[in-house]
Amino acid sequence: MRNTKHCPKCGSPEIGIVEPGRYNSFPVGFGGARLERYVCLSCGFTEEWVERGALEKVRKYYGSSSGHE
Ligand SMILES: [Zn+2]
Repeated sequence: MRNTKHCPKCGSPEIGIVEPGRYNSFPVGFGGARLERYVCLSCGFTEEWVERGALEKVRKYYGSSSGHE
């Protein structure tokens, strides 16, 4: 959806982009990684991506070699 610019469910090209923000995050330890969301304005399907730059933090926390349970 981010890459194709089309909804994968209904094929609509009408995609709304919700910029990464305070109420738009994914839990990582005591903080969070902000998310960028894409919403199809035709059927309502949403897709979310961890903000660029925050992926390393997510990998450290959730990665299989991180040592967390
Ligand atoms: Zn759609």
